[in-house]
Amino acid sequence: MTVALGIDIGGTGIKGALVDSSTGELQSERLKLETPRGGKPHEIAEVVESLYKSFEFSGPLGICLPAVVQKGISLTAANISDEWIGLNAQEMFEQQLKTNVILINDADAAGLAEVRFGAGKNKSGLIIMTTLGTGIGTAMFMDSVLVPNTELGHIEIDGTDYEQMASYRAKERYQLSYDRWAVRLERYYQELERLFTPDLFIVGGGVSKNHEFFLPLIKLRTDIVPAKLRNNAGLIGAAEQAFEKL
Ligand code: BGC
Repeated sequence: MTVALGIDIGGTGIKGALVDSSTGELQSERLKLETPRGGKPHEIAEVVESLYKSFEFSGPLGICLPAVVQKGISLTAANISDEWIGLNAQEMFEQQLKTNVILINDADAAGLAEVRFGAGKNKSGLIIMTTLGTGIGTAMFMDSVLVPNTELGHIEIDGTDYEQMASYRAKERYQLSYDRWAVRLERYYQELERLFTPDLFIVGGGVSKNHEFFLPLIKLRTDIVPAKLRNNAGLIGAAEQAFEKL
């Protein structure tokens, strides 16, 4: 079997599981620890270390986080501590865990999982995966090949960084009903449609389990479908990336 460990660093929790990288199925229980308040790199690295140790696993390890990641360096920090900006995060994790690590943006990881094993499986053309959570994460695939770090959650519409208006956190903050949230989402997906003419949108994030309350309200030319792997997509994609790249 081809097992890798995936760890998903989020705003509130850090989750990990062993994943069979040929099927995307979890091969262990999913463990979750709290993200330290403030999301500072070294504090997160310590939590990742305890999670890592509890698996007693020495194979490939992939970690995803809510930041642009290029050559192991985290370049942004939309919803985590600014100390991540410009940090060689890969080196930090490798020193802390004493093993090789692959780092990837969280939405890219979730998208990889969906394209390999979920809602985008066997689909050709241009796929845009979006995750609706604290922010809006995006991942773009052409014939299943990832174009990393697209960051389309930050597209400006009417002069506003649109994840502030249409993320799941915005829905909660503005106490939007599903109907009113869907109006904002429709605007957002229409803008992506106008700019990229995709063949398929996949909508992930925890709220995608309630997709029947808002996806049918969003009118588009493009097919829009819920993600299949839900909250495990990030760690499955991170494990998958580690298996392919390490
Ligand atoms: C960040 C992205 C991340 C997304 C989802 C955005 O605010 O800029 O890098 O993928 O949130 O966590």
